Amino acid sequence: LFGYVGIEAVLEQMKVKTMKMGFEFNIMVVGQSGLGKSTMVNTLFKSKVSRKASQPGQEERIPKTVQLQSVTHVIEEKGVKMKLTVTDTPGFGDQINNENCWDPIIKYINEQYERYLREEILITRKRKIPDSRVHGCVYFIPPTGHWLRPLDLEFMRRLSKIVNVVPVIAKADTLTLEEREEFKQRIQRDLKAHAISVYPQEDFDEDPDDRLLNDRIREKIPFAVVGADQEHQVNGKRVLGRKTKWGIIEVENPAHCEFPMLRDLLIRSHLQDLKDITHNVHYESYRVRRLNESNR
Ligand code: GDP
Ligand code: MG
Repeated sequence: LFGYVGIEAVLEQMKVKTMKMGFEFNIMVVGQSGLGKSTMVNTLFKSKVSRKASQPGQEERIPKTVQLQSVTHVIEEKGVKMKLTVTDTPGFGDQINNENCWDPIIKYINEQYERYLREEILITRKRKIPDSRVHGCVYFIPPTGHWLRPLDLEFMRRLSKIVNVVPVIAKADTLTLEEREEFKQRIQRDLKAHAISVYPQEDFDEDPDDRLLNDRIREKIPFAVVGADQEHQVNGKRVLGRKTKWGIIEVENPAHCEFPMLRDLLIRSHLQDLKDITHNVHYESYRVRRLNESNR
């Protein structure tokens, strides 16, 4: 009877279930103001994630972000619905005293865990709990080309304890290729020296194959990204890019910057892993902490 299970039939059921349920994926962008966070949110939505969203000729200037603000797009591909939400945050570090400037961000992240927890402990739970938890937090590092500022280190240290942090070098077009590479190495050393564990965390590699794949990504982190929300004509094709006196920097061209790597990591290759780690590690430690508190 059990000689042949017919695994294809099981896989098909799983597929149909995912198609029916769809899934939610939430990203947040964090960093000092003026580093291109809001532009990057638009870049993500306008890039190949969802070509539909872009309407040429309807560009608007991005206003300064003054509060936490979420944008949601439902992307449908091959019958599967993905609800992608990106939360934009106002810049911090603009004050003379930046003490506790991370508080609003950390509060927001914890509030989403709390929401989920409240649904989960109800006696009659929803079949599918709405998920607003932040699965990936993109941290923008200013392109100084020197080293990480104490503020960046402290912020990332705190964030990395509660969320998957994906650091990027902002506005990488302001650095030469050599400067980008040197800065990247330096940041990797700084993060290691301060025991800050950014995504993909070495501790959570599941097997040697995982390790191999993730090692390759870790070498490239932080990605040197460029954002743009304008389209230009290049060789008869419309491309997202920044027009300069010297030419167009194409954000989706891997020869120009590492935005494609960031997008692929978040939305393609590591989407499920980001969700799993959020649920099994970050949310789990929030849950344990909270339930311990209320038992005291
Ligand atoms: P935010 O404060 O972090 O949200 O930054 P914005 O997205 O509002 O961008 C601030 C300014 O930087 C705008 O004038 C953008 O056009 C510009 N900008 C955004 N991304 C880039 C980039 O990758 N390279 C360069 N050179 N400028 C950028
Ligand atoms: Mg902004």
